[in-house]
Amino acid sequence: MSKPLITPPLGLQGHRGARGLFPENTLEGFRSVRALGVDAIELDVSMTADKVVVVSHDLSPNPDLTRDASGAWLSAPGPRLRDLTFADVSRYDVGRLRPGSRYAASFPDQRPADGARIPTLADVLCGIPDMRFTIELKSDPRDPDRNAPPAVLAEATLGVIDAAAAGARVVVESFDWRGPRHVRRIRPDIVLAWLTRPATERDAVLWWDGPSPADFGGSVPRAVAAEGGPIWAPEYTGLTPDLVAEAHELGLRVLAWTVNDPAAMRDLLGWGVDGLITDRPDLAPQLNSAENSPKATPV
Ligand code: MG
Repeated sequence: MSKPLITPPLGLQGHRGARGLFPENTLEGFRSVRALGVDAIELDVSMTADKVVVVSHDLSPNPDLTRDASGAWLSAPGPRLRDLTFADVSRYDVGRLRPGSRYAASFPDQRPADGARIPTLADVLCGIPDMRFTIELKSDPRDPDRNAPPAVLAEATLGVIDAAAAGARVVVESFDWRGPRHVRRIRPDIVLAWLTRPATERDAVLWWDGPSPADFGGSVPRAVAAEGGPIWAPEYTGLTPDLVAEAHELGLRVLAWTVNDPAAMRDLLGWGVDGLITDRPDLAPQLNSAENSPKATPV
């Protein structure tokens, strides 16, 4: 099969900005990781009650990184973002991991940016106009009441992308394939990536809304190719050289996530993956130089 016409550069992508270094999914973090020289920034989007597309991994504010307007840490997940207005959402401070939390222990090198807010996708696309973004539509088919329907979120996200004239510098992806499938139906020019991980492959009838690997001889790349590709975004731990080769033979690009171990990064690059999503772009082979140290980059 020939390569697809659309083959965007994928390269080194910062996960939620670069969660290992800067507060995730914040403008402050995105600006800092941009200074590290990544090729793209991966972020997550959800929608508020007043239909503002906001950048957040969690469908409810995460107590491990969220303080309320009084500065107090949330003691439990906050209300669903879909039930809050953007004015409500923008009162949260998401600029620091909660001291003592397991999450903070996972990212000991993250430097806080107190006062950072949950941004709108519009502010991100307009505020960082020279950057590519991989935009993950956050929806969970196991718990559909927690988020806007995938088609609604997809259309709202496309509206923001178009208002920012950013269609040529974004890739849209989701584990819940209903979202990208809807984007393809209404906007075939938007480049898509199909996220997979073992859990969603095992429950593919739900996450993929119909097909499953069994329909393709157990091949996930073939399932992605049947959707039209052009990008397969697998969790890197299940990836093998043979799977990368199979994907390439099908005309797909491979965007592996979330790779923070430099040895694993080198292995994957050796297998020919087309892009890496990482919390630690500073550890990637091509960026690992003294002048790119995060210490040299103000938040
Ligand atoms: Mg994501």
